[in-house]
Amino acid sequence: ATTVPTTMRASVLLRQGVIEMQERPVPTPADGEVLVRVAAVGVCGSDVHYYQHGRIGDMVVTAPLVLGHEVSGTVVSVGRGVPESRVGDRVAIDPQVPCRQCRQCKTGRSNLCPFMRFYATPPFDGTFCDYVTAPADQAFTVPDSLSDEAAALLEPLSVGLWAAHKADVGPGDQVLIAGAGPIGAMCAQAVRARGATDVIVTDFVDSRRERITSFGATRALHPVADGEEIAALRADAFIDCSGATPAVLSGIASTRGGGTVVLVGLGAEEMPLPVQLIATREITVTGVFRYVDTWPRGIALTTSGAVHLDDMVTARYPLEQVEEALNSDSDPSSMKAVVVVDAPGGN
Ligand code: NAD
Ligand code: ZN
Repeated sequence: ATTVPTTMRASVLLRQGVIEMQERPVPTPADGEVLVRVAAVGVCGSDVHYYQHGRIGDMVVTAPLVLGHEVSGTVVSVGRGVPESRVGDRVAIDPQVPCRQCRQCKTGRSNLCPFMRFYATPPFDGTFCDYVTAPADQAFTVPDSLSDEAAALLEPLSVGLWAAHKADVGPGDQVLIAGAGPIGAMCAQAVRARGATDVIVTDFVDSRRERITSFGATRALHPVADGEEIAALRADAFIDCSGATPAVLSGIASTRGGGTVVLVGLGAEEMPLPVQLIATREITVTGVFRYVDTWPRGIALTTSGAVHLDDMVTARYPLEQVEEALNSDSDPSSMKAVVVVDAPGGN
């Protein structure tokens, strides 16, 4: 059996722009939960946003908060009702903990549960630490062939899988994606996995456009220089992963009659809507908020080689350097920074 220490390291955001390593008690798994020794944590734009601004919209950091939610690790102990045989499982965690009782939860929209608890969303601590607890059925066992880092990146992949699902992408489809950041890359890979054959991704940043063709894009275009080519498209689906108003407006105009527009990017709070175009083309416009039950598919797609996550990691940092990891994310040559947590008590 693994010996679990009583205290652990946690990298804590004290307030906007200030991170401190603290010693904290190792959490105890409640009924139905597992205790996971953290292996890898991906850095997400939302972690960076909390660090830089101390808030995301009306979610405000008013008390010290552990950031991080893209997480993998190993089960080291179990709460009541969870089989002891799970100890030793390498797992990837779905960080959404919905109430499972409300109407949204009961009708397959648990991502919209009003009682949601989510790592690194005030007041719930995240995973830049040695140990975390999670509901046992949300700690998905991953095969040995999947690296710790790939297992952690199943979380942003899940956003892509859910966006591809909401876009109703099918075999042979043409899909336009705005934004070649990590989320755009996850969407591109996800729509390819569903059979899209023409995947056009736009971005201003040259290095991001160049790189995106190894992550699902069949064409990478510049929003302005290639504007005519983009305007001539009539894509089956458009997925915005930029949050930029011009990208959304041009994307809607490049969507075919009866096509679908999926808004993933959370940038501008409000945008003008080309109402006549949407009406006369009967375009479906929908949003994406995280994902619902995407880990089993994500594991299958990554294990089978349909989706590549390891290649997306462009930088690695130890737990002591969470701040450096957060700062590195603003560099456009960075795709995905990962914090590698080498917890004491490991075996
Ligand atoms: P990112 O900032 O790394 O990528 C955005 C990219 O869009 C950048 O490369 C930028 O150069 C590009 N861009 C800007 N203007 C553009 C334009 N006019 N046309 C084309 N590209 C343009 O961010 P990310 O981590 O990849 O995340 C993308 C977006 O998805 C963010 O807004 C983030 O908040 C959002 N997000 C939403 C959810 C959700 O559940 N809805 C989940 C995760 C992330
Ligand atoms: Zn609920």
